[in-house]
Order: sequence, then C-alpha cells, then structure tokens
Amino acid sequence: MTLNIQNHPCFNDSARHTFGRIHLPVAPKCNIQCNYCNRKFDCMNENRPGVSSKLLSPKQALWYLEGAMKLSPNISVVGIAGPGDPFANPDETMETLRLVREKYPEMLLCVATNGLDVLPYIEELAELQVSHVTLTINAIDPEIGQEIYAWVRYQKRMYRDRQAAELLLENQLAALQKLKRFGVTAKVNSIIIPGVNDEHVVEVARQVASMGADILNCLPYYNTTETVFENIPEPDAEMVREIQAEAGKLLPQMKHCARCRADAVGIIGEFNSDEMMQKLAEASRMPKNPDEHRPYIAVASLEGVLINQHLGEADRFLIYALAEDKKGCALIDSRPAPPPGGGKSRWEALAATLADCRAVLVNSAGDSPQSVLKASGIDVLSLEGVIEEAVYGVFTGQNLKHLMKSSQIHACKSGCSGAGNGCD
Ligand code: SF4
Ligand code: SF4
Repeated sequence: MTLNIQNHPCFNDSARHTFGRIHLPVAPKCNIQCNYCNRKFDCMNENRPGVSSKLLSPKQALWYLEGAMKLSPNISVVGIAGPGDPFANPDETMETLRLVREKYPEMLLCVATNGLDVLPYIEELAELQVSHVTLTINAIDPEIGQEIYAWVRYQKRMYRDRQAAELLLENQLAALQKLKRFGVTAKVNSIIIPGVNDEHVVEVARQVASMGADILNCLPYYNTTETVFENIPEPDAEMVREIQAEAGKLLPQMKHCARCRADAVGIIGEFNSDEMMQKLAEASRMPKNPDEHRPYIAVASLEGVLINQHLGEADRFLIYALAEDKKGCALIDSRPAPPPGGGKSRWEALAATLADCRAVLVNSAGDSPQSVLKASGIDVLSLEGVIEEAVYGVFTGQNLKHLMKSSQIHACKSGCSGAGNGCD
C-alpha cells in the first residue's frame, strides 16, 4: 500500500485546509518532566500540548476513530501525542497503531515523542508504515538541557540534573539517526524558552540537520501556571521570527504549527467540534473493549454503602447497572467471591464470575489479581467513598480523582506535574 504523504496537513501547507488530523489520547504517562509542562486533564479552556479531556484504551480509540471518520471523512492522519509520552506507554501506543493500520490501510500515522524511549520501537514503527515521527529536542548542550528537564525516568531509574539531560539527548539523537535509517520522515520540535535556550535553538537546528532531520518546528514556549517556568514570559513574535529565519538557513521550517492538544481533531487551527468531543466522551465511557458487552460494575463493600473492602477480603461482590433513566445506578445482584487460596486460579475464577463487569471497585488490591483481572478486560479501581457516586461516575466517565486513594492518583499521574519519585 502506498501512502500519500502529501495529504499530511502538518507537513504540507497546501493540505492543511483540506485534510484534518486526529490525535488519539491513549498515552497518559510521561517518562520525563519538562519544566514548562503541567499535564492537566479535562481542561477544555486550554489549547496547548499535553492536554486532553479524556483518555482512551486502544480499542476505545479505534471505536472513537470510526465515529470520527463518519463525522469528518477528510481526516488523513492519525497521530499519538500524549497527553504524556507515547513511549512511556508503549503497549497502548503500539497496539493503537496496529489496530488503526489494520482497519485503515491508507491512513497516515504520526507520533510525537520526547525521544527518550522510542528507540526499541523504530523497526515496528517502520513496518507499520508510520510515516512521520516528531522528536522534541530543546537542547543539544546538557548544560542547557538540565535547566529544562527536572527529571528523566529511564529503565526504572530516576536521573536528574546534567545526567538526566545527557541521557535524554543521547537517546534523542540515536532515535533521530535510526528513524532516518528506516526511512521515516523526522520532524524536530524545538521549543523557544526565553533566557533558557533562545540563543541555542539555532545550534539545535545545526546538529539535527547534520543528522538527517527533515524539518524543524521552532515553537514559542507556552507559559503554563504551576510549573517551574511559570514566571518566564513567552517569546515575542520578533524573537520567534528571527530564530526561524536563522534556523531556516539550515533546515526547512514548519511555521503553521497550532500547538495541538493531545486530543486535537479536525482541521489544524480550528477548535475541536462539540460533536467530536461528545464522541470522544462517549468512547471513554465504553468498556475498554467496546465490542464486549459489559453492562455492570462490581463493588467490594462490607455493608453496601461505602467502598471499604480489599479485593481479597470480600466474600461477595455487589453488582450495579446504570439505572434505566441513566440518572443513577441500581443494585441488581450479589455474587459470591471464589474461596481464598489457589493462587492465580482464584483470580481467574473471579474474572469468570465478573465476566459481564467492566470494572471492580475496591479499597485496594494486590498486583497479581489486578493483572489477572485486567487481562480479562476488568479494570480494578482503588477508590474510597460512597458506592453510588463512584459507580455512577465510572459509568458516565466522570473525573474520580477525589475518590481515588493517593496511591492510585500517583499511579495514573493524571494532573500530576510530577515530583519524580517513581510513579510506575
Ligand atoms: Fe503529527 Fe504533530 Fe500533526 Fe499531530 S500535530 S498529526 S503529532 S505532526
Ligand atoms: Fe514534557 Fe512529558 Fe509534558 Fe510532553 S508530556 S511536555 S514530554 S513533561
């Protein structure tokens, strides 16, 4: 199958008014902390990278894409751009790309990453005909890089300061060279941060041009509150123009970047339509695999009011459905838990008992039952609070952060600007 890369609206100025792109927000976690980033979800008033109103599983993402293609058939590109980093979530990212490639053989595929963890996936990206990869490289001097990155988490180890910047840079440049060896179009984004790297971006251009980058996007840094850089002003238009002109002597420049959200959809520069956002919200409320019929949610509770039992302690699970008027939820069953003991087979028996449930809400759960239930398509959510509020919230895709146990908030990293104390 030959892809028509001329139809990529981000890379071809003449295509950007005709063709749209869709970002599938399947990658919540990030493996580095940029000092200008605060990844808040559900912030529709903001239009900046790293922001997404919802998160999707790979199969939900495919379901959403199918709906979006009906609403907007001129979508020519599927991109994965967060809201964290695609390769801090490699399973979700690669599964999504495979699903999309299988269903839409002619679709252009595009990924935007900080480059830390992409290297092992480049062969498969090329096999899947991912035609465009964006690497964000803000510094090629670790002295400057260490000002930009608070930490880097690589192969389960945390790095800070110069070591972090060196490691990130090494992997970014290796990724750039490998992408070019595999024939993938490589765009480099370099974010202009006044007083930090504004006098350095042209050096970035020189280095990445010598390594085969195809195009450079010198983006003005976006000021975001509650970040280390919140007091740094955005660069003025003249500074951006001058840097682009200098860097343009070394590499073609992309100048129509709209700093897209991680769930951007449609024509570049236009706001996401309400219809599309409803489709996205609907997708996020589906079971993780929308093809499965899972109308119920199970709860571990001693007395039937609060979520207050550990998964392994519960001797029975309460089963809830969404009420017919969809304004609440209804208790429809109580099912005995498999008896204690038996190791993994106990959790397989529980998965069979809850086969029509999309999630089980518990006070906490061990790793082993979580992985068995997850593999069976059942989400294990560690929550505390009133059952009805939590169950209804899960059914309707509401933000449940206030009910999450702190360990769970940390694990999902939603809205976490990242203390870097090891979230995985
Ligand atoms: Fe690809 Fe970036 Fe365009 Fe999205 S905005 S389609 S990630 S180039
Ligand atoms: Fe940086 Fe990660 Fe935020 Fe992207 S999501 S801007 S890589 S911290």
